[in-house]
Amino acid sequence: MSHLTEIQKEDAQYHLHPFTNTGRLNKKGARVITRAEGVYIWDEGGQKILDGMAGLWCVNLGYGRKELAEVAYEQMNTLPYYNTFFQTTNGPAAALAKAIASVTPGDLNHIFFANSGSEAIDTIMRLARHYWAIKGKPYRNVLIARDNAYHGSTLAGASLGGMGGMHKQGAPLVPGIARIRQPYWYGEGSDMSEEEFGLVCARALEEKILEVGPDNVAAFIGEPIQGAGGVIVPPESYWPEIQRICRKYDILLVADEVICGFGRTGNWFGSQTYGIEPDMISMAKGLSSGYLPIAAVAVGNRVADALIAHDEDFNHGYTYSGHPVAASVALKTIEIMKEEKIVERVRDKIAPYFHKKLDELADHPLIGHVDKKGLVAGMALMKDKASKTPFPADVDIGIICRDHCFNNGLIMRATGSRMILSPPLVITEAELDELFIKARHCLDLTLASVQEMGAL
Ligand SMILES: *Cc1c(COP(=O)(O)O)cnc(C)c1O
Repeated sequence: MSHLTEIQKEDAQYHLHPFTNTGRLNKKGARVITRAEGVYIWDEGGQKILDGMAGLWCVNLGYGRKELAEVAYEQMNTLPYYNTFFQTTNGPAAALAKAIASVTPGDLNHIFFANSGSEAIDTIMRLARHYWAIKGKPYRNVLIARDNAYHGSTLAGASLGGMGGMHKQGAPLVPGIARIRQPYWYGEGSDMSEEEFGLVCARALEEKILEVGPDNVAAFIGEPIQGAGGVIVPPESYWPEIQRICRKYDILLVADEVICGFGRTGNWFGSQTYGIEPDMISMAKGLSSGYLPIAAVAVGNRVADALIAHDEDFNHGYTYSGHPVAASVALKTIEIMKEEKIVERVRDKIAPYFHKKLDELADHPLIGHVDKKGLVAGMALMKDKASKTPFPADVDIGIICRDHCFNNGLIMRATGSRMILSPPLVITEAELDELFIKARHCLDLTLASVQEMGAL
């Protein structure tokens, strides 16, 4: 441990990291991030790094927004905390609920607060089942989710998600979950047209509903675009067909918008991008631009009316539901997004430029296919793109590429053999130019590494 800095030593000795092999990390030491500004972060060694992931899909307004720090400071001095359990509320929570309702699609006008996406998902799972119990059908308790979905890391989130690596730890999972295939066209369906494949994947929902029995199903849940699964952009035909099937069998439609919400896809919500009106949506990450932990569930009239008319407490909530400081920061985030027309800017200007740069990069010999929408993209790295041959399992191509990026001033995340970009929504064209120059350079370094290893 002698090569480690003081912070790294402390970290290695006391800190258990999420989604990390801590034993291995402790030997080499975690990279210490010390400050950030705009779309850049700096590490302890003084390296300036362009953050192509907006933190973890969240810092949509970029780093160093003084207005967000100031509202938090003022709110802490006025009312740092009070709960919303005791028939009490606070100004920021009420105003934030209204502000969220002003941007959600359809009739999603009632807001329940949580502190993380995972908690929002737990809330949805309990609320969906509770709704059917109120309706006199407590047996309607199965939730249908998808392979390779990510819905957070609490027990409910991990159970609903479709990540094998998560399912095998901490089992048994929450019962009452059924699963269908994901709409990953390049990986699983490119013998069909995208349109046709989208319909096939959506109809897998109908088959599953009939198998489970329509009268046992509470809800279907999916991310408009799968994020942690590698940025899987569904065919355009997929979501409208999913919605049609949910309506046909009277099943609640839930969109997990934790990544897609707040402008990522070029609309306020991914549901608008795909033309659907869910009964509930979860949101977190971009809600406060990552400046403080806060999450929410937007509930449509169907469920909200039933809950409000039902003369009984909803026995669910978090100590920090509607936390005034987090709420004030989220409120300010939404105000800034409206003032600076961030969503319109993504849709009309910066996403088209991002797509143009991605199309140029796609001629790189390692890139088999690019999934893209708005300001998010996933690139499939292939050993041979003409024959669609992936790298063998012992070549961790994603990690090789990610490490080259990190060491050369760029953050791109690796999910298996897919490289992910999800930059701050405020990124400029000049910064995108820099990002793509670095990305190409790092892909070249990755190519050289695999050639050296004899894996090409
Ligand atoms: C990140 C994420 C979650 C979990 O959010 P946390 O704040 O990490 O608990 C849930 N769903 C989706 C789609 C996510 O991307």
